[in-house]
Amino acid sequence: MFVSDPIASEAIVDCIFCKIAAGSIPAKKVREDDAVLAFHDIDPKAPTHILVIPKKHIASLAEAKADDAALLGRLLLAVAEIAQEQGLGKGYRVVISTGAEGGQTVDHLHLHVLGGRQMHWPPG
Ligand code: 5GP
Ligand code: ZN
Repeated sequence: MFVSDPIASEAIVDCIFCKIAAGSIPAKKVREDDAVLAFHDIDPKAPTHILVIPKKHIASLAEAKADDAALLGRLLLAVAEIAQEQGLGKGYRVVISTGAEGGQTVDHLHLHVLGGRQMHWPPG
């Protein structure tokens, strides 16, 4: 449900990642700036499993607009910096689950950063 303006950067009611971005739900934060937040996944699937999100509510990659291009770039650059800070120099995987068949379970765009073990292909 939208709070007011559907394209504004306001928190979306009942969006768990908007609540984490707003600080009303705790998370183990890794990094934060004005537009991007990174925190540890609550149910890690690798020794390092971090989620990188825009503070602005974008429901999924499929919902991103041309106006979001700079923000999307910042998310990817944040991933690369976090991976370096977390000692993932041997490699890591970035996953963006998108939509039902993509396995997306939280409808707020997030980039999974998985590392600390050998990744395999194809993913499940
Ligand atoms: P998806 O399934 O959409 O690709 O990824 C959602 C991720 O969010 C899952 O890996 C899940 O463990 C994580 N997650 C769900 N709820 C919370 C929460 O309240 N806190 C944190 N830190 N991670 C969460
Ligand atoms: Zn949200």
